[in-house]
Amino acid sequence: MKPILQHLVEMTGHRDHLRLEVSVLSTLQKLSSIKEVRALELFTDGGEPHIRPRTWVQDGQLVSTDSEAAADPRKEPLERYPELFECVTKQGDSALANPRPGRYTLWLPVWMHEKVSTCLEITQSRQFSAHKLEVLKGVFLVYQNYQNLLDYSERDALTGLFNRKTFDEQFARTTTPGLSSSKSPELVAPEQASIEGEHAQNWLAVVDIDHFKQVNDRFGHLYGDEVLILIANILRTSFRSHDRVFRFGGEEFVVLLRNTTLTMAHKVFNRFRETVQEHHFPQVGNVTVSLGFVGTSRGSPVEILGQADQALYYAKEHGRNQVRFYEDLIASGELATKVANDDVELF
Ligand code: GH3
Ligand code: MG
Ligand code: MG
Repeated sequence: MKPILQHLVEMTGHRDHLRLEVSVLSTLQKLSSIKEVRALELFTDGGEPHIRPRTWVQDGQLVSTDSEAAADPRKEPLERYPELFECVTKQGDSALANPRPGRYTLWLPVWMHEKVSTCLEITQSRQFSAHKLEVLKGVFLVYQNYQNLLDYSERDALTGLFNRKTFDEQFARTTTPGLSSSKSPELVAPEQASIEGEHAQNWLAVVDIDHFKQVNDRFGHLYGDEVLILIANILRTSFRSHDRVFRFGGEEFVVLLRNTTLTMAHKVFNRFRETVQEHHFPQVGNVTVSLGFVGTSRGSPVEILGQADQALYYAKEHGRNQVRFYEDLIASGELATKVANDDVELF
């Protein structure tokens, strides 16, 4: 067995949450007499807390699912695990259970900004000794600190949304399926199925605040910042947990909608636009946003982003406070396809 220190060095060499998770699981697994290790995802479904396994060992290999948690057939109400339920409710740092003879389970919830969305589960056939618990918790705390640090580096300081760098990394990964190395866990991608007869896929939207410069000019930069924070909050609550929202630059945001139909994409983007329109911003009053979006199944990240941007600019030039879909604008002749070189110049 490799010394723990070496495992920790390997673990903290990762710059990706999932690889870090896999790495801590394999470290914990090697700490002798461990029967099973898993990372569980905690989420709410219908207002009730649930868990589902996200990463676990199968045939000696760590396997991870990237599908929507609420749609996972393995999800279970958290209440089925009373010790874990109590621990999470009380913001505790660990829970132990002995559900049947020869099965002892330790749960370690990963707390990030007083919220928990992941919990490590370690099972062995003997009771955990005090020494073993100390070692396991020590490794876990290094992991938790490092996850928090990684999360901090991925976010924008003003709004708390993911930053541009994180977008570039995540988007390159979703549009380049062969990118993951052989050392990475097997990712079970969500089904690109059809929903109610309509093809489901991923969508990318660029959102830009209308006449934002006027907000700064009239009320000052601090009020401008306040508007950015409030719009970020509306963005956070307007989409599902497995969709992604990024602050792309000054007053521009990017939304990645996963596995949904065109009808639904129009609906949720317009609902978001209307929520902003109806929100009263203290002192400033009303603010609107424009949005351009496109499907992500064709083209390079730069091309996809360029197309969403073209749709956004069309919305800006034609009255603002509206949602425009790139392919509609191409089909109707309102926009012409750009050659790839032009798109590159945009960035
Ligand atoms: P349009 O409807 O065409 O988008 O008009 P606009 O005024 O929103 O567009 P423009 O790009 O001219 O202005 C964006 C402004 O956003 C300019 C800049 O001062 C402001 N801005 C960018 N980042 C920040 C920030 O972090 N805080 C504040 N308060 N303002 C910012
Ligand atoms: Mg702008
Ligand atoms: Mg703007």
